[in-house]
Amino acid sequence: MEEKVSTLRKQFQSDLSSVKHSKDVEQLKVKYLGKKGPIAELMLNLRDCTPEDRPRLGKWINELKEEVALLATQAYDGLTLAEQSERIHEEKIDITLPGRRAYLEHKHLITRMRDEAIDILSGMGFTVQYGPDLDSDYYNYEGLNFPPDHPARDMQDTFYISPEMLLRSHTSNTQVRVLEAHKPPIRIIAPGTVYRNENISARSHVFFHQIEGLYVDKNVSFADLFATMNEFWSKVFKKNVESRFRPSYFPFVEPGLEVDLKCVKCNGNGCGLCKHTGWLEVCGAGMVHPEVLKNGGIDPEVYSGYAWGMGLERLAMLRYGLPDIRLFTQNDQRFLDQF
Ligand SMILES: [Zn+2]
Repeated sequence: MEEKVSTLRKQFQSDLSSVKHSKDVEQLKVKYLGKKGPIAELMLNLRDCTPEDRPRLGKWINELKEEVALLATQAYDGLTLAEQSERIHEEKIDITLPGRRAYLEHKHLITRMRDEAIDILSGMGFTVQYGPDLDSDYYNYEGLNFPPDHPARDMQDTFYISPEMLLRSHTSNTQVRVLEAHKPPIRIIAPGTVYRNENISARSHVFFHQIEGLYVDKNVSFADLFATMNEFWSKVFKKNVESRFRPSYFPFVEPGLEVDLKCVKCNGNGCGLCKHTGWLEVCGAGMVHPEVLKNGGIDPEVYSGYAWGMGLERLAMLRYGLPDIRLFTQNDQRFLDQF
């Protein structure tokens, strides 16, 4: 038995001296100290020794075991350290190489357009209200004087979730909610995303952004609408802009208007941006329909109001002369970084 212990010790020392990597030390440790290793086997052999010899031999085997564990740990630590410093030595950094520039985030152009519109209109006394993207047919259509089967519903191809629920096709879904919840004077703007079941092209998309305006009080007139709109455009385009109002039809306003701006690029002389008409369509507007006021619990005999809705993508496209609405959603850094 003594001889076996001594041989095993020598064998381990020789094995350890030939090891070159820390992971080999780990393997060696498992080999000698494992449950089926030679030291465990020696322990088992103790059963065959005389009871007088057992304590002495057992002590020897335990000493060998501790020695193996200690030497293996020391070798492992030494090798790990050497491997680490070797790696650090190899991984030299060439500080003469140009660095990679950190990408600084900034707001998306549409977000900035929205913030700017909110900023201008807040300064004119409007407060911000938000309506839900997923809404009932009532608030998106019926409450706004679009009865079921009204042909004007076809003007906005709508994503229905169920017969009663839809993705709002305009931010006007905020109007009746606000009228229900507040007493005049009401002067709000409602920015948000809107959804249309349309083919995606340079001019149209399945989702885009609008900002809605609504003002209800006693004696609100067209003159108030014109003044507000003109003030807004001149702030957005940072110059005095001439506008014109053409009669149009939307069920929730009476009368309804389409607002055009004299082309901000060619000043009305005709160019590619205005398709050589000299005018740019920017906004739908009108006086709030008496039925809509009634739906919001407001007496149309006492109060009147105006409303408008405009697309933020349209606004950004006109301001920066952008040719394609898809640019906003393509996530092309080269485009986004320009603003
Ligand atoms: Zn033009």
